[in-house]
Amino acid sequence: MRRVYLDNNATTPLLPEVLEAMRPYFAERFGNASSIHHHGQETRAAVERSRESVAALLGCRASEIVFTSGGTEADNLAVFGVAQAGDHIITSTIEHHAVLNACRHLEEKGFEVTYIPVEKRGVVDPADVRRALRPNTKLICIMFANNETGVVQPVAEIGKIAAEAGVYFHTDAVQAVGKIPVHVEEIGCDLLTVSAHKLHGPQGVGALYVRKGTELEPVQYGGRHERSRRAGTENVPGIVGLGKAAELALAGLERGDDQKMAELRNRLERELLRIEVSGVNGACENPHPTQTARCAGHPRVPNTTNIYFEGIDGEALVIALDLKGLAVSTGAACSSGAIEPSHVLMAMGLPLERARGSIRFSLGKQNTVEDVEFALAVVPETVARLRELSPVWNELRALSRELRATKNAAGDNGLLEARGSKLGNNSS
Ligand code: PLP
Repeated sequence: MRRVYLDNNATTPLLPEVLEAMRPYFAERFGNASSIHHHGQETRAAVERSRESVAALLGCRASEIVFTSGGTEADNLAVFGVAQAGDHIITSTIEHHAVLNACRHLEEKGFEVTYIPVEKRGVVDPADVRRALRPNTKLICIMFANNETGVVQPVAEIGKIAAEAGVYFHTDAVQAVGKIPVHVEEIGCDLLTVSAHKLHGPQGVGALYVRKGTELEPVQYGGRHERSRRAGTENVPGIVGLGKAAELALAGLERGDDQKMAELRNRLERELLRIEVSGVNGACENPHPTQTARCAGHPRVPNTTNIYFEGIDGEALVIALDLKGLAVSTGAACSSGAIEPSHVLMAMGLPLERARGSIRFSLGKQNTVEDVEFALAVVPETVARLRELSPVWNELRALSRELRATKNAAGDNGLLEARGSKLGNNSS
């Protein structure tokens, strides 16, 4: 059976070159990078080469890179490493749980946290960040690109606000690094998170950029690894894989791979939007006025589109598509046995049913035009079949016909709202 993987925001397959670079470090190059003998020196050199490669991708010094066990650890290190008792933190409602739950944990411990809401395009307004500043604000944590919508945030603008206020700025760039240019000086951030497995590197390894001079308390104690910022014997094969993935990502961006990726994503999106009563969640055309020149061409990262198909259950669609060989996802999470719709889509104000009927398609370097054609062959028919079985869809359809007949068409966008008012219940 043919299988096409369009869930690259969850994880990306290792590039063959990355696997080749890692291979010796699982076998003959096994030394502990802290050992002073030949074996240790060999792996130490490999770790330091990778540090250079990651630094080159982000435009920083190698000494500012701290290797971690992934994006989650890097996010946690940024939040817990900077915040001190009595501090106030500003973050947003659309962050990844690695930031949100770290902030919630601090709140339980008595810290003050402001969660900036977003409008329906899924963009944080820098003016809201400025307004949220307090005398005790220590840290602003706003992600670079959202993992569910791909929407790029006005991070350079927020970086300026943070610098003017003398507040640390951390950005979770896990979904941006390798897909679009990410340069710490242009962002003006003090801390930035990277995860290897989102850029065709291995799972379980990441990095935190820590601007020189940033006061960062470690969250784990042990040896003096990573300049005492992160104790623990280095994951050498993983770090080598991250370094190679960073090198390949930089070369790809220089070649304009991001443009090619956007063309592929745009074809997929354009064709899927022919499906009746569907639409893109989040910013997708004109960039937000506050986005900088660098971000302006990228209101979203080029690999992601999040689309709602009115009247279907997203989980059912994911399962039905998987049976046909197509891997995609919803941003839904399972909590206490119930499927919770994506907190990101809910934060953007989507009605519950629309959030439940939304699917994320995310491409990777391995995807081809044929993969997109495969998706375009299976998604429309699967949506149609599920809709036939859906009482919600049949009701929406009848309402749509009624609205058209009375020339009072609210348009596809108004359908849910019209249904809500007709039934006397608000579907959100
Ligand atoms: N931040 C974002 C935006 C992510 O998308 C993810 C992973 O999905 C993470 C952090 C966590 O990274 P990791 O899986 O390396 O822990």
